[in-house]
Amino acid sequence: MGSDGYYYPFDYKVSKNPKDSMLAKTEPREGTNVVAFLDNGAPTTIVIGAHFDHLGLGHDHNSLDANPEGKIHNGADDNASGVAGVLELARYFSENDFIEKNNFLFMNFSGEELGLLGSKKWCENPTLPLEKINYMINMDMIGRLNDSSKKLLVFGIGTSSAWKEVLEKTNQYFSIKEDSAGIGPSDQTSFYLKNIPVLHFFTGQHSDYHKPSDDIEKINIEGEVKVLELIIDVVEALDSKPKLSFFKTQNAETPRMSFKVTMGVMPDYTYEEKGMRLDGVTDNKPAAKGGLLGGDIIIQIGNAKIESVKDYMKVLATLKKETR
Ligand SMILES: [Zn+2]
Repeated sequence: MGSDGYYYPFDYKVSKNPKDSMLAKTEPREGTNVVAFLDNGAPTTIVIGAHFDHLGLGHDHNSLDANPEGKIHNGADDNASGVAGVLELARYFSENDFIEKNNFLFMNFSGEELGLLGSKKWCENPTLPLEKINYMINMDMIGRLNDSSKKLLVFGIGTSSAWKEVLEKTNQYFSIKEDSAGIGPSDQTSFYLKNIPVLHFFTGQHSDYHKPSDDIEKINIEGEVKVLELIIDVVEALDSKPKLSFFKTQNAETPRMSFKVTMGVMPDYTYEEKGMRLDGVTDNKPAAKGGLLGGDIIIQIGNAKIESVKDYMKVLATLKKETR
C-alpha cells in the first residue's frame, strides 16, 4: 500500500519540491507488470490484482524504519499477501468452471509504492478494451487479520450499487468496515479513474507497515484464506448478474493535504472510538521522543479536539515548525 499517493496513512512530510521527490534522485528504473488472461469466451472480464513491488533496500524514502538504507524490506503483508491472493485465485478459477459470464485478468502490478505506476500504465495502455471490464478487485495487505476483531476494511463500496448487497449476502465471518470512496491509497484508484467499479480488501494497519519487520512469521495465513473465500463468494454471486453499473464517489473524505510538520505516528485506521489510537510510532521522531507509544490515544492537540484520524490530519496540516 502506498503512503503518499492520494491520501496519507502517515503524517510524514511529502515535499512539493520536485528536486526532493523520490524519483528525481535515482537513475531511471524499469518495472514490469505481470498479467495473465483466463478466457472463458465471455463478453466481460473481471480484473483481480495486487502490487508485487515493495520498498527494496529502503533507498526510496518511503520506509518507516529509522535507518532503512540497506535493510531488506520483504513486505510479507505489503504486498506478498496480495500477490499470493492473485496466484491462489488464478489457480482456483482456472480449476473450477462455475464462472461462465466473465473472463479473468489476473494482474500483478509494479511500481505501486512509488505512486501506482504499474496500474496507471496499464490503464493508459490496456491489453483489452476498458469498457469490457466488469469490475476490479484489488488485494493490498490482506495478511494481518486480527482473529478477535475479525475486522476487514473494504474500500470502494460506493463505486457500484451492487457491492453493499453482495457483501451482505456473502459475508458471514468478518466484521466489515466499509469505505465508499473509489480513490484510495492503492491500485484500485487507477481503475476507478477509468470509470470501473472497484473493491479493495485490506486487513488493517500495523506497526510493521513499511518496515523491515513486515515478515512472513506475522502473517495470518488462515485469515487470508478467509478473505479469499469471501472474494470467491462475491465473484460467484455476481456472475449471474449483468455487468455492474459504475458510480462516482465522494472523495472529500480523503482530501489531499500537505504537512509542514511530522509527529511520526501510525494511526490505527480500524479504531472506531473517539480520538486517534496509535498503531505505532516511528523511532527518533517527535512522538517517540515525547514518549508516545503504540496503543496511546490522541484526543487533543493544542486547543483542538481530535475525534478521528481525519481531525488529526486537519489539525496537523495547520501546524508550522517553530523557529527559535
Ligand atoms: Zn506499501
